[in-house]
Amino acid sequence: MKRVRVYQTGPPEMMKLEEAEDPRPGPGEVLVQVKAAGVNPVDTYVRAGTFGYSPEVPYTPGADAAGTVEAVGPGVTRLRVGERVYGARSVSGSYAEKALFEEIQVHPLPETISFAQGACIGIPYVTAYWALFRKAKVQPGETVLIHGASGGVGTAAVQLARQAKLTILGTAGSEQGRRLVKEQGADHLLDHQDPRHFDEIMKLTGGRGVDLILEMLANRNLGKDLSLLAPSGRVVVIGSRGTVEIDPRDLMVRDAAVLGMRLKNVASQEYGQVHADLVQGLSRGALRPVVGKELPLAEAARAHREVMEPPAHGNIVLIP
Ligand code: NAP
Repeated sequence: MKRVRVYQTGPPEMMKLEEAEDPRPGPGEVLVQVKAAGVNPVDTYVRAGTFGYSPEVPYTPGADAAGTVEAVGPGVTRLRVGERVYGARSVSGSYAEKALFEEIQVHPLPETISFAQGACIGIPYVTAYWALFRKAKVQPGETVLIHGASGGVGTAAVQLARQAKLTILGTAGSEQGRRLVKEQGADHLLDHQDPRHFDEIMKLTGGRGVDLILEMLANRNLGKDLSLLAPSGRVVVIGSRGTVEIDPRDLMVRDAAVLGMRLKNVASQEYGQVHADLVQGLSRGALRPVVGKELPLAEAARAHREVMEPPAHGNIVLIP
């Protein structure tokens, strides 16, 4: 089979396409024939060695994929060979023609969801779900600002927030991005590149502010975010690429909270209910992953450059 391999952390060109033996599933593992692999910003941080830990090299990048079950290891009972599935947290790396997953991380892919869409579920939807329902414990009727709604996590968050009957304010930095955010179900659209959008948010909420903010670029926005919160409001920090100054009084006067999250800290056993809910939403058509671009596996380096360049438009996937 073909796979992408990183022998040394560094720029995107460190990823090489090579031939390798097919991996064999061990106990509790599933071998998936990959039809599409999801590309996420975290894949680029790990490749560059800037994620806070250095992966053991060589390794194959990628956590998410969709395809068909090719083989199952001893003890696997829930999945059949040939079944359409999507997988998260690949143990062997998903940028490959075949990838291994723990059984608990492999789920049926509804017929209405393409393989490319299936490759966009793992990191983006689980992150958005975790932020909304487990971290913020959002309630129906609340108002959420999705600050960065045009990318993988943002589009997933808009769809999940729609399902949960929230009022949604979504931001994007381009016209095309805002159109996309509207199509996903946002009630109000804003441009996060325009400094006036903060005032607009207060106007749109009648001066009350928002109950919840899902923040994709905290180093840019957190200071302002705190002044946009309603009483008992919460900010979930999903993305941040630097430091930021805040005024803690903004939190005190509102009884507000800032919650951090890192998907890597979520234990595998916690994923069961999350994916059960996601599969239900996918089957009902309420969740429709947005594939912004498909690239051949050989163009992994280009995918890594493009995932870090604005404007975002859903997810990028690699096709083996
Ligand atoms: P993505 O697809 O590249 O999207 C990036 C998003 O950030 C786009 O919506 C982009 O909007 C937006 N953005 C750009 N400038 C912004 C600004 N000034 N204010 C607000 N938003 C802005 O990435 P993703 O997969 O959605 O992930 C989003 C971030 O969360 C990334 O930093 C990623 O590393 C992080 N993340 C963290 C976790 C975790 O466990 N904590 C999990 C997944 C992702 P435009 O392009 O339209 O300007």
